[in-house]
Amino acid sequence: MSRVCGLVAIVLALVLSVDPGDAQSGKPGVEKLYVLNCGEGVAGDISRWSPGVNEGKSMDFVDNCYLIKHAQGWFLWDTGISDAVAAMPNGLAPADPKAVFWRRPKTLAAQLDQLGVAAADIKAMAVSHTHPDHVGNVELFPTAMLYVQKAEYEWPGANNEPRFKPGHPVTKLEGDRDVFGDGSVTILSTPGHTPGHQSLLVKLPNTGAVVLSGDAVHFKSNWDNRGVPANNFNKEQTLASMQKISETLAKEKAQLWINHDKAQRDDLKMSPEFYD
Ligand SMILES: [Zn+2]
Repeated sequence: MSRVCGLVAIVLALVLSVDPGDAQSGKPGVEKLYVLNCGEGVAGDISRWSPGVNEGKSMDFVDNCYLIKHAQGWFLWDTGISDAVAAMPNGLAPADPKAVFWRRPKTLAAQLDQLGVAAADIKAMAVSHTHPDHVGNVELFPTAMLYVQKAEYEWPGANNEPRFKPGHPVTKLEGDRDVFGDGSVTILSTPGHTPGHQSLLVKLPNTGAVVLSGDAVHFKSNWDNRGVPANNFNKEQTLASMQKISETLAKEKAQLWINHDKAQRDDLKMSPEFYD
């Protein structure tokens, strides 16, 4: 009888010693997350993002990139407005006056420099989607593995041009992806804004879980009202993706960090400060 009890105790000890979060080390894989300033702008008419709401009203916009330090290496989420815009004294005017007039107070390159991170140190990256305020600096990292949904990668660009440089290393996804295999950084497929839009779930050791929205939602009021921008690729997919994010927030007890929401960014610690 005591031998059986001993065996049960051994088996139980073995089962309890396996940490599903990180089977190898038992430590959380993500160490830090930096919020980088990847653009600031003014939208001419915010009803463009929530039809029928706030027509004719302009609003300040921000654009973030997020740099994650994982035990296995650096990972960059979104690349913002092109660094070239920093040199334009009057910023970048949109073709549609209702859209966003962008400025670049700091380059992405300068912010990485400040952290002592070289472009070549970033071995992996992902972009939420291929609009210019998110892919402006992908080629600052020509050797970084790019994680992108196949539907986005293959979506023809203007004049049928590819959306990424064909030689850039790429992993084409068809759904969610656990980037480091330990559950700490997960790409969530959230189509609708564009055909292969994606968001990011990050599990930080102290801050807890955070979902980085990409443009699945543009600002808080548009999230609260489930507003779908008129120029989104697919309205039903957009609403289903918002629902998926909502369920993820509940399941992971996560915060939602909305990329373009200025009021929210004003409350965030910006690089070189960080979240751990
Ligand atoms: Zn955007």
